[in-house]
Amino acid sequence: MLTNETIAAIATAPGRGGVGIVRVSGPAVQAMAQSLLGCVPPVRLATFGRFRNAIGEILDEGIALYFAGPHSFTGEDVLELQGHGGPMVLRRVLQRCIELGARMAEPGEFTKRAFLNDKLDLAQAEAVADLIDASSEEAAKSALRSLRGEFSSQVRQLVDQVIHLRMLVEASLDFPEEDIDFLEAADAKGQLKTIQGQLAAVSKAAKQGSILREGVHVVLVGQPNVGKSSLMNALAGDDVAIVTDIAGTTRDAIREQIHIEGVPLHIIDTAGLRETIDQVEQIGINRTWQAIEKADIALLLVDARHGLTEAEQAILDRFPDKLRRLKVFNKIDLSGEQAGLGESNGIPVIYLSAKQGLGIDLLRAQLLAAVGFESDGQGVFMARARHLDAIRRAAGHLGEADMQYMQIELFAEELRLAQNALNEITGEFSADDLLGEIFSRFCIGK
Ligand code: GDP
Ligand code: ZN
Repeated sequence: MLTNETIAAIATAPGRGGVGIVRVSGPAVQAMAQSLLGCVPPVRLATFGRFRNAIGEILDEGIALYFAGPHSFTGEDVLELQGHGGPMVLRRVLQRCIELGARMAEPGEFTKRAFLNDKLDLAQAEAVADLIDASSEEAAKSALRSLRGEFSSQVRQLVDQVIHLRMLVEASLDFPEEDIDFLEAADAKGQLKTIQGQLAAVSKAAKQGSILREGVHVVLVGQPNVGKSSLMNALAGDDVAIVTDIAGTTRDAIREQIHIEGVPLHIIDTAGLRETIDQVEQIGINRTWQAIEKADIALLLVDARHGLTEAEQAILDRFPDKLRRLKVFNKIDLSGEQAGLGESNGIPVIYLSAKQGLGIDLLRAQLLAAVGFESDGQGVFMARARHLDAIRRAAGHLGEADMQYMQIELFAEELRLAQNALNEITGEFSADDLLGEIFSRFCIGK
């Protein structure tokens, strides 16, 4: 893809910083450098320069970096102006680029151009955004794996194997009498099984990655002083917990986020529900219930010396059935019980002390197990719901192919559909609206 539009944006985060970067990409870059810097800097060489306006006044000074296309991030000519990181100075440099014929870049447009110029495939481009958004070390590592193409190359290998099998099937159609024998001899069935096995492995790794990306939504039920805050701190442990406390309006749900083994736990505190159980029509409460509808796990926290209150039981009775429940008896150091795992009415029960740090690992493991996260962290790559969906469909078609083995035309058709589904992941044939949807969620300047 070649475009005649040159785009520009401030690539560094808004606000003040040591360095601020204006990034420009497109065919006008060389001419722009000439006007702005008085020269086109040597390729890939950090070059000190003064950034000037139309009448030669200095707007800022700093480092200019020029990358000649196609050897650049976008595949086009790219200029990076690294100046002082203040909003006004950056805005003026950007303004100058606009005067010289660039237009403001849309969110993710640099990465979109990289994709359209075959510098990245779609899964890699998505990983760029996921790396920027990563909230834990594990999430960042897995996004980087996807960005470096590990996910894509596994998908491509699968596609290659499917293509190979399809060619075999097509060839067998040339021998209508003994076509089945032909496939048998080539062990088509065995090949299909191998592909299915590898797809299952990719699917598993992708699911782990998507848990790292999406996190787990936990509804926390417990009276004041039962130890909710203490438990959150204990759970977070020495994970670099970014504990945020976004208290909304008084009637809004309180959300916090901690990480367990890099998995973000989005916690909704139902304290507000307890107080106002009879006034369910209020907006904030409705919002909390909406959040509960989408949650994965309900964590019931009780003082080991007492049980649940009636009000809490009433809230619990309204929880959706699909919400997995975990019951935690806290403060066992006071009740004299042992740390451990039990079960009541099919609900796992964990005995622990948040304050003494007893039994915390048991809860951590239960929380991760409840969403199917296995945290060896190895070979996990970042994946999105879109990818999981494509994998699921590909697996479905391979399953169909397996059943239709004796009807070779159908067998071939299912293989073709499986290949298409896999190709969606890397964006081999992507609709424009899908691209728009993906790139619009990026930040400006990326
Ligand atoms: P929250 O109101 O539910 O968030 O409860 P906090 O976490 O603020 O804890 C309330 C009080 O209970 C604090 O004084 C904690 O130190 C104490 N606490 C929390 N967990 C334990 C525990 O396991 N054992 C003991 N003895 N005290 C605890
Ligand atoms: Zn608290």
